[in-house]
Amino acid sequence: MSNPERFQNLVDGQYRTSSTGRWLATANPFTGAEWAEVPQCGAEDAALAIEAAHRAFSSGPWPKLSATSRGKLLRRLGDLIARDAEKLAAIEVRDNGKLYAEMLGQLRYLPEWFYYFGGLADKIEGGVLPSDKPQIFSYTKREPLGVVVAITPWNSPLMLLTWKLAPALAAGNTVVIKPSEFTSCSTLALMALVKEAGFPDGVVNTVTGFGHEVGPILVSHPLVAKVAFTGGDATGAAVYAQAAKHIKHVTLELGGKSPNIVFADANIEHAVKGAISGIFAASGQTCIAGSRLLVQRSVYQEVSEKVVDLARTAKLGDPMLESTQVGPITTQPQRDKVLQYIDVAREGGAECLLGGKRPEAAELANGWFVEPTIFGDVNNQMRIAREEVFGPVLSIIPFDDEDEAISIANDTPYGLAAGIWTSDIRRAFRVTDQVRAGTVWVNTYRAVSFMAPFGGYKQSGIGRENGQVAIEDYLQTKSVWVNLAEDVPNPFVLR
Ligand code: NDP
Repeated sequence: MSNPERFQNLVDGQYRTSSTGRWLATANPFTGAEWAEVPQCGAEDAALAIEAAHRAFSSGPWPKLSATSRGKLLRRLGDLIARDAEKLAAIEVRDNGKLYAEMLGQLRYLPEWFYYFGGLADKIEGGVLPSDKPQIFSYTKREPLGVVVAITPWNSPLMLLTWKLAPALAAGNTVVIKPSEFTSCSTLALMALVKEAGFPDGVVNTVTGFGHEVGPILVSHPLVAKVAFTGGDATGAAVYAQAAKHIKHVTLELGGKSPNIVFADANIEHAVKGAISGIFAASGQTCIAGSRLLVQRSVYQEVSEKVVDLARTAKLGDPMLESTQVGPITTQPQRDKVLQYIDVAREGGAECLLGGKRPEAAELANGWFVEPTIFGDVNNQMRIAREEVFGPVLSIIPFDDEDEAISIANDTPYGLAAGIWTSDIRRAFRVTDQVRAGTVWVNTYRAVSFMAPFGGYKQSGIGRENGQVAIEDYLQTKSVWVNLAEDVPNPFVLR
C-alpha cells in the first residue's frame, strides 16, 4: 500500500497508536485496494482506555459538570458533525462502500441525535416518593452507570455509534468505543470533533483492532459497567455470556429476518418500491432489511414481476457517484457469505428470478459486488428464509390470507422489524398488533428517527436505542431515605 492514510485512537484525550506497534489495513470495497491503516490494539491498549474512562467518570471535570453543561457539549458535537458531514461521509464510503448519497444523508441527520439527547441531559429526573413510614422523606435519583463499552459493526459505523454515544453521554457515563476492524476510520475521524467540542479527557476513548482479540478484554474488564453492542447474533450471544459472568448491563442490537407483507388491497406500485428499499438499499446490509417479501397469492405474480423489473434497473457502480443505486458489499468475507447463501437458496429449491452471481461488468471487477438477487416461491422453512444473509438477496413467499401472513411473519427467531402494505386501515392495526417485531412500518419501510425507540423482539436483541426510553438503558436508580425523626427506633427490627 503506497502512503496509506493513518488514523489514531483517542485515549485519555491523547492520540495514540498501539502498544503492539502494529497497524491494521482497511480496504475500499469498490476498488478492493487498501487505503488506510488503524492501530491494531492489544490488551494493554484496551486496559489503558478503560482506566482512562474510569478516571474520567470518577474524578476530574466530567462528574462535576452540570447536566445542562453536558447537554451543551453534546449539542456542540452535533454542530461539528453537521459542519464536517461531507468529509465524514466520504470516509465512510471509502471504508464501507455504501452510497455517498446514503451516508451523507445519515451524517446530516446524525446531529439531531446529539441535539435530542443533549436536550434530554438536564431532564433526567428522579421523584419524591410517598412514604408509608412516619418521619421518612424518600426520593429517587437517576445516576449514570459508569464506563460504557460501545461495540459497533461495519454497516453504518457512525450512525450505530451515535445511537449509543448520545444517550450514554447525556446520562453522564464515559465511553470506550470498539469499532469494527473493517470500518474504524470514520469513528477515529469523529474523535477530532469530540476533542474540538471540549469533552474532558477520557470521557470518550477508542480501541481499534480485531474484535476477537480486544473485544473480550473490553467486555470482561472489571471497571466496565455496561456493554452496548450492535452486530451479529453469534457475537452478540458471546458478548452477553461474557458480560453475564461479571454481571454487567448489556444492550444488544442483533440481526433480523424481517417480513415485508404485501396484501392484495395495497397500492401495488408503492409496495413494489417498499420491497426494493427494504432489501436493495445499502445492498441489503442492514439489520432491518425486509429480506422476506410476503405477498398475497392473488397479486403474487404481479408483485413478483414488478419487483424483478424494478430491481433489474438498479445501477451498480462507484458508491461515490450520484447515479449509483447499489454499491459493493462492505467486506470480502461478507461478499463470499452472500454468494454462499445464494447457493443455499438454489440447493433448497428456491427459484432464482434475478441475479444470483457477481456482476460481469469490467468496471465492477475489483469491487465486492453481488447482483441484486431475487428468489421466488420460497418456503418459510428454507434456510434462505430463516437465516440473515445481510446482502442484496430477497426471498418472495406467497400467502393466502391475513392469518397465514401473520403466522409466516412470526415464524422466525428474529423480531426486529416488519412492513405492512395495505389500504385497509383496520387490517393495518390488526396486523401491527399481532406481528412480533420492535418496529412496524405501515405503507413505508426503512425509516428511523432519533425520536422513535428501536430494538428487537425475540432474538433480535435486548433494550432500546433512540427515543426517550433509550436513556433508561444508561441510567440506574438510587433510592434515598432521610430520617426526619428525632431518634432512631428499635435497631433490632426492619423499619
Ligand atoms: P460481528 O458481530 O462479528 O461484529 C460486530 C462487532 O463486534 C465488531 O466491532 C466486531 O469487531 C466485534 N467483535 C467481534 N468479536 C467480538 C468478541 N468476541 N467480543 C466483542 N466484540 C467482538 O459482526 P460482523 O461485523 O462480522 O458481521 C457478521 C454478521 O453480523 C453479519 O453477517 C450480519 O449478519 C450481522 N450484522 C448485523 C448488524 C446489525 O446492524 N444488526 C450489523 C453488522 C453485522 P471486528 O469487526 O473487529 O471483528
